[in-house]
Amino acid sequence: MSQTKSTYKYLFGPVASRRYGRSLGVDLAIPKTCSLNCIFCQIGETPSTTIKLSEKPPVNEVLKELARWIQSGDQTDFITVAGSGEPTLHTGFGDVLNFIRDETEFKSLLLSNGTLFFLEDIRNKATSADIVKLSLHAWDQSSFTKITRADPALDFDKILDGFRRFRDIYSGKIDLEVFVIPGINDKAEQMEKIAHIARSFSPDSVYLNSAVRPPADSTVKEASPDLIEKLSLVFGELAVKKIYTTNEAILEYSATALIELISRHPASLDQLAKQFNLSHDVMLNELKILEAQNRMQLTETNGKIFAMPII
Ligand code: SF4
Repeated sequence: MSQTKSTYKYLFGPVASRRYGRSLGVDLAIPKTCSLNCIFCQIGETPSTTIKLSEKPPVNEVLKELARWIQSGDQTDFITVAGSGEPTLHTGFGDVLNFIRDETEFKSLLLSNGTLFFLEDIRNKATSADIVKLSLHAWDQSSFTKITRADPALDFDKILDGFRRFRDIYSGKIDLEVFVIPGINDKAEQMEKIAHIARSFSPDSVYLNSAVRPPADSTVKEASPDLIEKLSLVFGELAVKKIYTTNEAILEYSATALIELISRHPASLDQLAKQFNLSHDVMLNELKILEAQNRMQLTETNGKIFAMPII
């Protein structure tokens, strides 16, 4: 399996995603551009939140890269419009989704925080995706502000209204991610409120997630598997209990593949060992060599070792 080379500026991977298998990422938000600054964000702090749409990078350049990747003959399960922030802040995200639908054999996945779905144009563009993954971690404006440190222009109720309007026009799959943050939204009654809101826009499935990578706010702790399982019950049949894993998601190991994999998100030693199908000892040894070469850095969070890009 080949990996994207450094000649790609806007593409990363394919990486092995826990939920979606092999996924080629399209990054429309370099450097990190987001409407939120979530306390659990694994990409790091948002320098300054915004809801201003941007035309940069030029969408034609992104599409040219995608066309080149397709010509390379590499394979993937999904082409994911996501990256270092919120992709719907880019005016061309709909063009990228249309290109994937019309010019490739692969399925498209839009990873969005959904905060701009109150805008009709954003909702219409998002309908071109095969799957739209939205996020909901709060139950009112106050909890939304606390967890996401949202741009002041954003209104929680207006965002939810946007989710419902989107469901009305979209026949594809909506996956909902709920991030569980111990001490902030992990009480059963809080999760009940989130589930009640979720039912109002009928997601096809709900994933409960937790801080498995170093979060923007280092006080955010990982939720235990028991807690995740218990809180999943609140969502009934919608809750996805088993995380997608497949041998097809295993990547061939090379230093380049590893650097590429962690270039956007830190990854734990456990995850890397699984994704490259190596023992912990062998994986750790490889990581130490790359760290000594100053090509990445190792860090320890919540008792786990992570490989991170050098910032
Ligand atoms: S978690 Fe997603 S929505 Fe939240 S700050 Fe990070 S990139 Fe933005």
